[in-house]
Amino acid sequence: MSGHAESSLPIFSPRLDELMASMIAGEAPNVGRFCGYCYTPVGKKADVCPHCARTTAQYAPVAKIPGDFFVLYRRMRRRESIVVNSFAFAGLGIGLLLFVGIVALGVYRYNASLWVMAASVAVLIVGGRVFAGLLGGWVGDQIGYDIAQRKLAVEWEAYERDREARLRPTARSRADAEPLPAVSGPAGGN
Ligand SMILES: [Zn+2]
Repeated sequence: MSGHAESSLPIFSPRLDELMASMIAGEAPNVGRFCGYCYTPVGKKADVCPHCARTTAQYAPVAKIPGDFFVLYRRMRRRESIVVNSFAFAGLGIGLLLFVGIVALGVYRYNASLWVMAASVAVLIVGGRVFAGLLGGWVGDQIGYDIAQRKLAVEWEAYERDREARLRPTARSRADAEPLPAVSGPAGGN
């Protein structure tokens, strides 16, 4: 569990991740020059992608990120947030348990002391938030990222296979029998 997938490049480069988020938020238009393989923005005159290092000769750059690539992206984000939210709710649950525990303590041991009751409410409100933040933002974030990346890698494989068949129809007939003749790049080792 030492951090994020180190072995292979993430499918969405940090640059692209940021850009797609703002495109979805409607803050950026979907125009530019993008790597034909991983859709990371490439400079106007660049002929190698800064993320996946594939050349523009291997994969012609595109002027627009395709819609079905956004589908992958949204699904990944959604999976992440489901996990994060689940952990955040578990954190709230811990706050609630503490609250009940302190109330019980107050009732049975401290003769329903108002101070203990007040403390229990404070623990419910503050503790619930803190535990939700810790579990959701820290544990949930890590685990959510890992789960989403793993699922994304599987979906990406299918996406890439489909796209490859579309881009290079001649290879399609062979695709059923054997893996496509890889246009090998530095990330081809996975
Ligand atoms: Zn690329």
